[in-house]
Amino acid sequence: MRSQRSQQLFKRAESVIPGGVNSPVRAYRAVGGSPPFITRASGARIFDVDGNEFIDYVGSWGPAILGHAHPAVVSAVKRSADNGLSFGAPTEQEIRLAELIIGLYPSIEMLRCVSSGTEATMSAIRVARGFVKRNYVVKFDGGYHGHSDGLLAKAGSGVGTLGIPDSAGVPEGMAQYTLTLPYNDLVALEALFQERGSDIAAVIVEPVAGNIGCVPPAPDFLSTIVAVCKKFGSVSIFDEVMTGCRVSSGGAQAYYGVTPDMTCLGKVVGGGMPLAIYGGRRDIMNCVAPLGPVYQAGTLSGNPIAVAAGIATLEHLDQASYVRLEELGAALETGLNQVLTRNEVSGIVQRVGSMLTVFFGVQRVIDYATACQADRGRFARWHAGLLKRCIYWPPSQLESAFISVAHTSADIDRTLVAAEAALSE
Ligand SMILES: *Cc1c(COP(=O)(O)O)cnc(C)c1O
Repeated sequence: MRSQRSQQLFKRAESVIPGGVNSPVRAYRAVGGSPPFITRASGARIFDVDGNEFIDYVGSWGPAILGHAHPAVVSAVKRSADNGLSFGAPTEQEIRLAELIIGLYPSIEMLRCVSSGTEATMSAIRVARGFVKRNYVVKFDGGYHGHSDGLLAKAGSGVGTLGIPDSAGVPEGMAQYTLTLPYNDLVALEALFQERGSDIAAVIVEPVAGNIGCVPPAPDFLSTIVAVCKKFGSVSIFDEVMTGCRVSSGGAQAYYGVTPDMTCLGKVVGGGMPLAIYGGRRDIMNCVAPLGPVYQAGTLSGNPIAVAAGIATLEHLDQASYVRLEELGAALETGLNQVLTRNEVSGIVQRVGSMLTVFFGVQRVIDYATACQADRGRFARWHAGLLKRCIYWPPSQLESAFISVAHTSADIDRTLVAAEAALSE
């Protein structure tokens, strides 16, 4: 693998863009080294400025479920671009996208399009607060819901500690209405609601945690969230920005058979363009302006090109796609477990469908605390070994890798050979 040109570009980028990147994890700080600068991507492959061709398991952090530059998505985007880039006025295609989503997600009766997952979760929470007229929001430690002020809080020690901001620049007052609990902790959840349920506007959860690595929900975790919200008149919000149309066409809520009050979608539903969605029960969505008192808006919301990419992506995902993603995911999981065992390296592979994480040095990851026990140094060395062998894996122990329908069994086999060799780094 050559990297000279990428290294030069990274230096140049660092003087004009913080960390050289427009989103922090791209800077490779968690694994060291410098990131490949990308020129193009096609199917399961991504190419960099040094002429390397990688098998890609980042998939633009989720959107590229059909593989990169799927011909149907690209031609939909081109057709749409020919007709104008943005109107700031309603289009028929927005209805089509909304109807497609509502068809896949029975919990969503009405929805709004926005331009990022951050906006979707921020807006959903505002709407939930406006609907129940309470201030407190519960999130789970390590859950990532975008970078809006109130959601950049994680737990201090102790159950239901008042939110402490995770980021400089977030006044404590902005996070004081955020309560955090350990993921998968039903006892803590029920205790918190017993104590202050009548103050809680909403619970927001990643129904499969994906931003601490891939951590599936414990049995009853999701259904208990929904039930406890119902009992106390709070709104359950599933943040399916990562899992939506990823773990199944109907997201994690269909996969686990649980129905939330509100849902956030992003990543896959935009097919690689800036598009995300929040929606839910009709009575709740009736609060959104101009129908109701909760203001939420966007110049580029429902952008025609993004909507075209989203529709084309959803139209090309069928049941066969998810069967295929499951087969490929299972093959990668089994193979990676065998690689760990054969080399007597302690660790575990956790997977839901086409989301997967290899945690080194731990036997089970159920929440943020156990995820943090994973051996990040070991991961970083393995990651470097993979990169050297042209496998483009997410550059952090606490991220999920993604498989696309464009991956092949031969890709998985090649990846497993590289994964084994990389263990000797
Ligand atoms: C990526 C992600 C977000 C944020 O989406 P952006 O489009 O990056 O703002 C929110 N929630 C979850 C679960 C995500 O994975």
